[in-house]
Parts: sequence; structure tokens; C-alpha cells
Amino acid sequence: MSDEKIMRLRIALRGAVQGVGFRPFVYRLANDMGLSGWVNNSPQGVFIEVEGKKTSLDRFLSRLQSEKPPRSFIQSLESSYLDSVGFGSFEVRESDQSGKKTALVLPDIATCPDCLREIFDPENRRYLYPFTNCTNCGPRYSIIEDLPYDRRNTTMKIFPMCENCQREYDDPSDRRFHAQPNACPECGPHLELWDKAGKKIDFRQEALTLAAAAIRQGKILAIKGVGGFHLMVDTRDEEAVKLLRLRKAREEKPLALMFPSLEMV
Ligand SMILES: [Zn+2]
Ligand SMILES: [Zn+2]
Repeated sequence: MSDEKIMRLRIALRGAVQGVGFRPFVYRLANDMGLSGWVNNSPQGVFIEVEGKKTSLDRFLSRLQSEKPPRSFIQSLESSYLDSVGFGSFEVRESDQSGKKTALVLPDIATCPDCLREIFDPENRRYLYPFTNCTNCGPRYSIIEDLPYDRRNTTMKIFPMCENCQREYDDPSDRRFHAQPNACPECGPHLELWDKAGKKIDFRQEALTLAAAAIRQGKILAIKGVGGFHLMVDTRDEEAVKLLRLRKAREEKPLALMFPSLEMV
């Protein structure tokens, strides 16, 4: 009956395993299988220890790889069986800050369909909130200042989460469990529209509406995004394009065009 003995499985995962909902996934999987232990982020990757019967641990190991979050990528996986230490439950532990920083950071990911649905739902608390994100989408690379990928190591650290966002962040069953840039109109960053002298014209949704109107009027709009500035004009407006080329001192080099969808290209 050696199979029935409670053992401890230690796993070290390296690759793109941070900022992709890996810890929430491990938490749910372990709870789903009734295993105790912990998971944490370290500058080298994700570390897991789980306790249970050998057969369950083997199944955990295989499900870990077959059901991993879609955005994640496991570069290497090391595992070893040890004597049990008697963990009470499964927990997401504080990130370990020590050691060499070798974990991979993902690029920014376009807003996912779930978040888009919320942004355009008048009943949703994130209605028209442009910085909406979750563990499946949102900025990563642009906001990270240090590893491991935790909120305190991102530029989002200056926006303390409101009660509702914190609840999502702490709830393992929520899509925003440990979503580091989690934010809402209540607690997150906001849009502002400035004139060319740097004076604030308007903010929030009104800023977006006025910015769109400015483009339609043939003006040049500078949009500060997470990765820098975009200078935008309406390409159907020849005068506006000419003005942009003049100001940028860019006579001939092509400019990038933006389309709402591939079908329209
Ligand atoms: Zn999302
Ligand atoms: Zn909030």
C-alpha cells in the first residue's frame, strides 16, 4: 500500500509562467483535487509544493501541464518527491524576492472578449473604462519595473485597489485573481485630454470623446500609451496628413495606418 502514503511533491517551473494567471490556476487545480501545499512566484519562475497520495500527485503533475493557462509557456519543469510535512490547506504564498532574475515576462496582451463585454455593458462597474484588464489580458511588459511580476513591482503600485477590485484580486475563483494591473474607474488611472500648452481640457470619457472629435476636425492628436506616444491624424484628411509630415519633418517615409479590423484592410 505504498501508493497510499502521503507524500510531498516539489515542482519548479521556468518559462513564461508569470502574469498569465498561473498561480490562480495552480490554486484552483490543487483545491479541485483536494491537495494541500503552496505556490509562489520567484524571480526564477513558479515554485509549487503539494501533498497527497502519490497517484494524486502524479495526476496533478500531468494536469498542471495539460491544463495550464493558454498564455503560459513552460520552458522547463523539475519535480521531486519528498517526505510530507503536513500542510493544512493550499495557499498562494508571498513572492520570494531572492536569487537571480531569470523568469520571462510576457508582452502586453490586447483586451480580451470578456473585458470588452464589460467595457460596453452599461450595467457593469467598468462601463467605458479604457484601462479594464484581467489575468487573460492587459499590460505586462510596459508596466513591469522588476521581477517577480507582482503589483508592487509594476507602475500600478501607485494606484491602491478599491474594495471591489481587491476582492476580485483576492478571490481564487475570480477572473482577476492576482491580476496585477487590476483597476476600475473608482481606483485606477484615468484619461485626460490636454491642449498643446499642457492645460487640461477634460478627463475620463469626455476626454476620449473630445479627442476623437479633434481627429475628425483634422487636428493632430498625441496619445500617450503604455509604450510611448502615438501621433494620430485622420488619413482621409489630406491637409491633416500634410501637417503631420511637416511637423514630423517626414516628407516621404510611409506612416502606419490603423484599421478597426483585418476585414477592412
Ligand atoms: Zn481581460
Ligand atoms: Zn477598483
